[in-house]
Amino acid sequence: MSTSTYPTAHSVDDFRRNLTAVQERIVAACLRASRDPAAVRLLPVSKTVPEARIRLAYAAGCRYLGENKVQEASQKAEAMADLTDLRWSVIGHLQTNKAKLVARFASEFQALDSLRVAEALDRRLQAEGRVLDVLVQVNTSGEASKFGLPPEEVSSFVRELPAFSSLRVRGLMTLALLSADPVRVRPCFVRLRELRERLREEVPAGIAMNELSMGMSGDFELAVEEGATVVRVGQAIFGARALPDSHYWPDAPSAPV
Ligand SMILES: *Cc1c(COP(=O)(O)O)cnc(C)c1O
Repeated sequence: MSTSTYPTAHSVDDFRRNLTAVQERIVAACLRASRDPAAVRLLPVSKTVPEARIRLAYAAGCRYLGENKVQEASQKAEAMADLTDLRWSVIGHLQTNKAKLVARFASEFQALDSLRVAEALDRRLQAEGRVLDVLVQVNTSGEASKFGLPPEEVSSFVRELPAFSSLRVRGLMTLALLSADPVRVRPCFVRLRELRERLREEVPAGIAMNELSMGMSGDFELAVEEGATVVRVGQAIFGARALPDSHYWPDAPSAPV
């Protein structure tokens, strides 16, 4: 889908309208799949959006925001600390040297894909006396450029996670193939759901495998049809970003394939 189809939201009313429209599309996708719409959480993604516009989104009802860059997220969380019920979810790759920041401000981390990061986060969380909800990121597209564990490595990875007592493991996250063709995108979502079903049979005590974070502005309806419990939607709520996705995922294809 072309990003030019998403006009920029400039007022509380714009945000209300966009949030309602996305929610309605989630409900419609749930109906098609005989799912309960209450089982799908909309996570608005505010990366690159400046504070003033995020405050409008807050006024329109957003209480949970996703950001993919830790530095940017941390600065925003600090600037908007007065909004005490606003919670931040980090949805992008994390380097261990930024674990300290995440441990301070985030309430969720959706891109766990290494034991080094798990260890660093756990240590920092212990120091802060906090816990963090985490999702394990899985590479379901097979693209070498994408972060996340290959599906066949997730089972043994998850078995190591009970060692990190400050991490509350909730489920899985994926980025589908960046494509406008549902025939190529849908299998990524199916793969994540099937992986979760297998893991549910074998995860150790204390590890939950309920959440499936999948779907973005261009593909969230497909993801909901395939079982998403969290959809991460940026542009359909905030408006098109000025920079292409290749800026945020350095190796992502610059045009839909
Ligand atoms: C930016 C981003 C999204 C949202 O993408 P939109 O096209 O703005 O809906 C979802 N997930 C991740 C990991 C992202 O970085």
